[in-house]
Amino acid sequence: MSDCIFCKIRDGQVPARAVHRDEQCMAIEDINPQAPTHLLVIPLEHIPTVNDLTVDHRALVGHLYLTAAKLARQRGIADNGYRLVMNTHRDAGQTVFHIHLHVLGGRPLEWPPG
Ligand code: AMP
Ligand code: ZN
Repeated sequence: MSDCIFCKIRDGQVPARAVHRDEQCMAIEDINPQAPTHLLVIPLEHIPTVNDLTVDHRALVGHLYLTAAKLARQRGIADNGYRLVMNTHRDAGQTVFHIHLHVLGGRPLEWPPG
């Protein structure tokens, strides 16, 4: 956990472009954006993958989605549409093992993804 980049951002040890923070989560601009809007909604708690979620996280997961929807409205992309993605392990391309919800929008997004 100590070398987790998102824990370091949470703790102020690594800079990031933060766009939201509350008692349960933070949201930052992705450092390598794949769309005009590319945010990451990240729980403050270190949870490595979706596989590590338990029933105790139900409210937290709901909060991540509600926060993502609020940020999408703030960005003005809610009506045109956007994509929320949480990658899990190798086949999905997860690279940071602290769960995060990608918020992608601002252009038409290809489907299915590559
Ligand atoms: P994933 O592949 O789903 O694990 O996504 C990890 C995301 O985190 C990628 O889109 C990266 O560009 C992004 N990322 C990695 N390091 C940073 C950082 N220091 N600040 C902001 N975004 C980051
Ligand atoms: Zn972490």
